[in-house]
Formats: sequence, C-alpha cells, structure tokens
Amino acid sequence: MHSFSYSRAEEIASAVSKKAVGQQAAKFIAGGTNLLDLMKAKVELPQQLIDINPLPLKSIEATENGGLRLGALATNADTAYHEQVQQQYPLISQAILAGASAQLRNMATDGGNILQRTRCYYFYDTATPCNKREPGTGCSAINGFNRIHAILGTSEHCIATHPSDMAVALAALEATVNVTGTNGERSIPMLAFHRLPGSTPHLDNNLQPDEIITSLDLPPQGFAQHYTYLKIRDRESYAFALVSVAAALDMDGDTIREARLALGGVAHKPWRLPEAEAMLNGKTPTKENFGAVATAYLDGAQGYGDNTFKIELAKRAIVRALLQASSKK
Ligand SMILES: Cc1cc2nc3c(=O)[nH]c(=O)nc-3n(C[C@H](O)[C@H](O)[C@H](O)COP(=O)(O)OP(=O)(O)OC[C@H]3O[C@@H](n4cnc5c(N)ncnc54)[C@H](O)[C@@H]3O)c2cc1C
Ligand code: SF4
Repeated sequence: MHSFSYSRAEEIASAVSKKAVGQQAAKFIAGGTNLLDLMKAKVELPQQLIDINPLPLKSIEATENGGLRLGALATNADTAYHEQVQQQYPLISQAILAGASAQLRNMATDGGNILQRTRCYYFYDTATPCNKREPGTGCSAINGFNRIHAILGTSEHCIATHPSDMAVALAALEATVNVTGTNGERSIPMLAFHRLPGSTPHLDNNLQPDEIITSLDLPPQGFAQHYTYLKIRDRESYAFALVSVAAALDMDGDTIREARLALGGVAHKPWRLPEAEAMLNGKTPTKENFGAVATAYLDGAQGYGDNTFKIELAKRAIVRALLQASSKK
C-alpha cells in the first residue's frame, strides 16, 4: 500500500509553492484520468497530491489579439463544444473529439491532456525495464513488441510516442502554453513544450517541477475553412492514434497561401517540419504536391520491426488529410 497526502490548492501561488517544496514527489491532480491510472499501476508514486480543481482556471476567453485563451482546467468536453472553438478552431474540436470517450472528456482537462504520459506497454509494466519510468534500466520496446511506437526523433534510449490528439492540433495552430512557477510567469511555444527522448526520456516536456500550466493560447489564425484531423487507429473509437495528421491550409482560390501539418503517433512529441510545409506555399492542392511533402516529412524515419508499417501509413495519411482539408469549402 502506497500512502500519500492530499490537499486542495485554493490559489495559484499556494499550488506552486506546495509543488516547489514537494518537487517530483508532489503531483498536481486535475481530472485524474491519467494520473490515477498510473498510480494504480504503481508507475507514479507521489507522496503528495495537490488537487488544483478549485483554481480559477476553467474559463475560455477571447484574447485582445483576436485569439482564444483556454483555461488549463477547462475540460476537453467544454473546449470541444465551445462555440468559438467550433467556429474559429474546428481543428481543435475535431482532434479532442477523436480522443478517449465522452465520459473521459468530461473529466479530462486541457492542461492535463498535453501532460498525459506515453501509452508504451512497457512503461505501464513495472516488471520490465524502461528508461522513461526508471532511468538507466534500458528500453524494452526497441527489441520488443513495438507496434505503437515512434518512427521519428527516436533515440537508443526510448522510442515512445506522445499520445495526445489535442496536442497535435495545438502544434499545428502554433498555440502557446502559459505557465506559472516560483520565478513568475512564462509562455512556452507549443512546439518547444514537449521534448524528444534523447538521453533523458524520463523528461516528457520542458515544464519545471515547480510550474503549473495556467492556460493555452490559440493565435487568431484558426484555419477554420480548410482543416482536418485524421486519426488512424485500430478501432474507430476509444483507441489511441497509430498515426494522426492535423492539416490546416490557408487558401486563395486554388492556391495554397500557407500550410500547417502536424503528425501524432509517430514521435515523442507532435511532429512538425515547417520547411516541408513551406514546399506547399503558392502551390495547387494536388496529390503530387501533397505526396512530395509527405515524402519530406518521413525522410529519415526509422521502423523497429512491428511499427515499420507506420512509415508508409503516415505518408498516405498526410496526403489524405491534405486532400480532405483542401476540398473543404
Ligand atoms: C481509456 C482511455 C482512453 C484515452 N484515449 C485518448 C485518446 O484517444 N486521445 C487522447 O488524446 N487522450 C486519450 N486519453 C487520455 C486523456 O485524454 C487524458 O488522460 C486526459 O486528457 C488527462 O487530463 P486530466 O485532467 O485527467 O489529467 P490528470 O490525470 O489529472 O493529470 C495528468 C498529468 O498532468 C499533470 N497536470 C494536470 N494538470 C496540470 C496543470 N494545470 N499544470 C501542471 N501539471 C498538471 C498531473 O500532475 C499529471 O502528471 C485516454 C485516457 C483513457 C483512460
Ligand atoms: S519506449 Fe520509452 S517508455 Fe517504452 S520501454 Fe522504451 S524507454 Fe520505456
């Protein structure tokens, strides 16, 4: 039996100072849909749980620059069905609704969503070596069963993927993560928030131990006319992505002004390649042009046996997603 203390934080400052004292042994709990599973599996064994649900971080509000601020404690359901999200950022709604189940989305929060941990089977199985769970023990997936694992940005220490659907759409839209710590507030671009595994796969992201996510900012450009979130998975619902694609296009008639493309299910973080996206600037939406971008995105991809199929799958998913996005009116 693992015992831990539980307290509720009524103010952001007290939440942060409690976390600063507890450091890694203290954990914030929001919806609890990931953390509690990890505690039951004995993957996470916090000594202190700090419940952040009383904090005033549930609102979704327009920002002065024409964008939208999603409170870290806004639920995935409230976010996906929010009128302005649906109108200005339908890509976000579509990505959220492609994930989990209605019950989970009612509990899951936007901050917790981007902090959820990998679904690597070995990470959950404390009887097996795993560098992410226990640094220095090795990676069971590289020579094990790795069907759901990464093909891009991997290292010899870890080939896990990041499982969030919402994070992929946030990366495509270039959202910003607002955080508060003992040193004050800072904003982290979504693309710099998650990390590649390198030699430190136990670190999923660049949040400091004393920092709390307070909100996520969406920039004004929501690509609401031409977008798609395509999720390829083993079952049509209630399954994580094998490969997903968030595609967003800004079009002038039949000409692409700007393209955004982020992949999920293929790396330790949402995968963006701005230089490959730029190949579409000024081009028409043809299968050939989209195929060239897909080839560039998967350049250097590496399969590990069971997951090698993802390389071709990702290329085809990119082309399909871009064709769907460009044909929307
Ligand atoms: C069966 C099942 C299926 C699922 N399917 C999908 C899917 O298809 N796609 C998908 O994207 N997700 C899926 N999920 C994951 C689900 O979306 C996440 O569990 C959820 O979004 C996490 O949010 P939460 O508020 O419950 O986080 P919690 O479990 O409360 O917290 C998660 C982590 O974030 C930390 N944390 C939470 N909020 C903050 C904050 N504001 N600041 C700092 N740290 C914080 C916690 O300390 C913890 O480490 C699934 C989950 C389950 C159980
Ligand atoms: S892929 Fe990463 S999470 Fe999975 S076993 Fe290897 S080190 Fe652990």
